[in-house]
Amino acid sequence: MADWQQELEAVVGAQHVLTHPNLLRAYSQDGYTLESAMPRAVVLPGSTEETQSVVRILARHGVPVVARGAGTSLSGGAIASQDSVILHFSRLNRIHQIDWTNRVTEVGPGVINADVSRALQPGGYFYAPDPSSQQACTIGGNFAENSGGPHCLKYGVTVNHVLMADVVLPNGEVRRFGNLAGDPDGPDWLGLLVGSEGTLGIATRLWLRMTPSPRASRTIAALFDSVAEASHAVSAVIAAGVIPAALEMMDRLAIFAVEKGAYPVGYPPDTAAVLLMEIDGEPLGVEAEAQQVLSLLEGFHVRQVKTAQSLEERNLWWANRKTAFGAMGLISPRYYVQDGVIPRHTLPIALDAIDSISAHYDIRIANVFHAGDGNLHPLLLYDDRDPREVSRVKRAGSEILRYCVELGGSITGEHGIGLEKLDEMRVQFSPEALLAHDAIKRVFDPAALFNPGKLLPTPGRCIDYDGPP
Ligand SMILES: Cc1cc2nc3c(=O)[nH]c(=O)nc-3n(C[C@H](O)[C@H](O)[C@H](O)COP(=O)(O)OP(=O)(O)OC[C@H]3O[C@@H](n4cnc5c(N)ncnc54)[C@H](O)[C@@H]3O)c2cc1C
Repeated sequence: MADWQQELEAVVGAQHVLTHPNLLRAYSQDGYTLESAMPRAVVLPGSTEETQSVVRILARHGVPVVARGAGTSLSGGAIASQDSVILHFSRLNRIHQIDWTNRVTEVGPGVINADVSRALQPGGYFYAPDPSSQQACTIGGNFAENSGGPHCLKYGVTVNHVLMADVVLPNGEVRRFGNLAGDPDGPDWLGLLVGSEGTLGIATRLWLRMTPSPRASRTIAALFDSVAEASHAVSAVIAAGVIPAALEMMDRLAIFAVEKGAYPVGYPPDTAAVLLMEIDGEPLGVEAEAQQVLSLLEGFHVRQVKTAQSLEERNLWWANRKTAFGAMGLISPRYYVQDGVIPRHTLPIALDAIDSISAHYDIRIANVFHAGDGNLHPLLLYDDRDPREVSRVKRAGSEILRYCVELGGSITGEHGIGLEKLDEMRVQFSPEALLAHDAIKRVFDPAALFNPGKLLPTPGRCIDYDGPP
């Protein structure tokens, strides 16, 4: 038994230090199915103080640390790279306080995203960022990935909803970042930490903004015979000045999968694209905007437009959409989710390009995405038992991301860089920009012990970017 292991057990209790290979195997992967690694151990801290002590012990022994929530990361962020120890936050899963007066909820990082809204709903509030994984993913993981979701088009992503956080830094200090007023006093350190993928600090307590639940909403599904036509409709809705709470698209292969899944809606199998739109707010405003959208749609070749007639129907449509990734398991042994962003008006050519990439690499690709903000999620279907197919799927994924950059977009909308997109970081950023990123990392974590090998390509390994020695 390593010295550090005994020291960890003294802090958190032996039952909260996992070392048996059978237990560690459960932590060897996350939602990014193309890579895996066994951690050296998994530690389950029960408080900020225990997290701090664990970080100090491991830092003293030079052991790298990877924080983990629910392991739903789609970019390999929660995988134990470089022989790390995983800190799993399932014990810090309490909603500590709901301050209805100031509209702030105080939570542990292991609280499940959907549980926050469930707790707030009776008081007429909700927690706005709603990743499709919200029934499983945690607030700590959302913090690290700056997660979005279908309803973030109108309400903003995680960084807009975390007011304050207690963070354990790589040197073992605990610092409180942000404030309850939600207005940074000085540099926005909290803004820097949100989305830093666990490479700069580990959140152990978070204060979240509560959003009043809208008094009314209308959900509209528009079925199209052409993806291009659906894409033009997306641009037209936004150009008309309507900001729907959500504006999502699924293409034919995605529709085929979700209709086989647990929440079939009854979309005809030959539908080329479905646009799912939600408008919410005050009743009169919602009615007016819904009418505006419906008349806009009349200017397009829409096969059918439906408005949800009940809360049950609305919930079914959303369950159908939000389980789309999982439904891929019904039509393929494995799937690999990409996450690129493009300027919205380039949607039709981007989707055409994805079609060509699919044909070129002989990989089926389904598209399910946040159309309103141009955040694509091509789902590349493959069989991991065929190494040649795995290699083709990786190349196809990379080509899609490179094309997003070429169109003036980016290599991630919300799933992060993790292990997955290290190479594409060099496509997105200049060597100078990468050095600036690296300099920030060195300020927080000079020994590179927090989530090493993620987010930033390692200096020296890259062709066109070399960090300081
Ligand atoms: C079916 C499915 C649908 C999804 N839909 C969406 C979507 O709509 N929008 C979206 O944005 N994402 C989506 N995701 C991706 C994923 O759910 C999010 O990235 C989520 O925030 C990860 O949370 P987690 O608790 O699973 O974190 P993990 O996967 O455990 O970790 C993710 C990252 O966070 C770090 N981390 C975890 N806890 C902490 C902490 N306390 N402090 C610091 N760093 C920490 C980890 O080190 C890792 O880098 C989806 C994933 C799946 C599988």
